[in-house]
Amino acid sequence: MSQLPAHPATAQLTALAHEKILILDGAMGTQIQQLGLSEDDFTGHGSGHVCRHHSDHPQKGNNDLLILTQPEALEEIHFNYAMAGADIAETNTFSATTIAQADYGLQAAVHDLNEQGARVVRRALDRATAIDGKPRFVAGAVGPTNRTASLSPDVNDPGYRAVTFDDLRIAYGQQVHGLIAGGADLILIETIFDTLNAKAAIFACIEAFAEHGQRLPIMISGTITDASGRTLSGQTPTAFWHSVSHARPFTVGLNCALGAAAMRPHMAELAGVADTFTCAYPNAGLPNAFGEYDEGPDDTARQVAEFAREGLVNVVGGCCGTTPDHIRAIADALAGFAPRQPRKFEAAA
Ligand SMILES: [Zn+2]
Repeated sequence: MSQLPAHPATAQLTALAHEKILILDGAMGTQIQQLGLSEDDFTGHGSGHVCRHHSDHPQKGNNDLLILTQPEALEEIHFNYAMAGADIAETNTFSATTIAQADYGLQAAVHDLNEQGARVVRRALDRATAIDGKPRFVAGAVGPTNRTASLSPDVNDPGYRAVTFDDLRIAYGQQVHGLIAGGADLILIETIFDTLNAKAAIFACIEAFAEHGQRLPIMISGTITDASGRTLSGQTPTAFWHSVSHARPFTVGLNCALGAAAMRPHMAELAGVADTFTCAYPNAGLPNAFGEYDEGPDDTARQVAEFAREGLVNVVGGCCGTTPDHIRAIADALAGFAPRQPRKFEAAA
């Protein structure tokens, strides 16, 4: 992979990350929910664009499909995040793999979802850049899928796997090809609960980059879902870093899960071991009894500013429950802080 020429975004992003803490955007789910879309809106049969891929499954809740059926509404959300201060905006493709789209019978739409998903973000970012001149980058979002390669979902059959490394590698390969075809500047492998899934995604990136003749920057983001401080597949942040460092990612970090305060010690651990840039995008606190997030923008921003004060972060954004107001508050709160200086390791003798 190292012989391939680097995508031009690599040098630009690296130079910017040395200058300032970069801002990533916030959640799509919360914004999409506010649109109050019906089944007909999701399929495009009510208002919007009808998807050319047929499925007999209900589509309400298939947020990724809105790339094809409600692109104007999605573009507006991406634009709002860009104007709130995001330097990097994620595609709405968290579940745009054949594995995740199987729930909706839309495996055939995967290439279009990813290609158009990158294009709609690019359009939104270009509009923002035309206003303020700031460079902005499209991060092709690669989710964990709804299956796990290293654990059995069946307590009575611990050797069973619902998905294999190769199933994931192939599905991620299709996704990454689509994202690159749509003009993604980097690939963000996010919400990693199973490192083996992430390793399949990394492998798929390496294969896709070789085919396209260009290496894109990769961001890798794990999630720590319980108080033990480990991922679902049982790794500490340090072990997680050692499992993915071979990818030479642009950033390694954490997202989602328990909110900023609970994430802080794990980010501190990662920042201490990783010789690359770090990225954190926590949820807006913990969900309430209704599964909603009510931590306000200033509250999230104040906690994330602590990460910056301690020199833990190079890229910061928001995950579940965050809004453009959260991203604006985070961007304002972080403006005065210098970025973390990635640790330099002595070359092995
Ligand atoms: Zn989240």
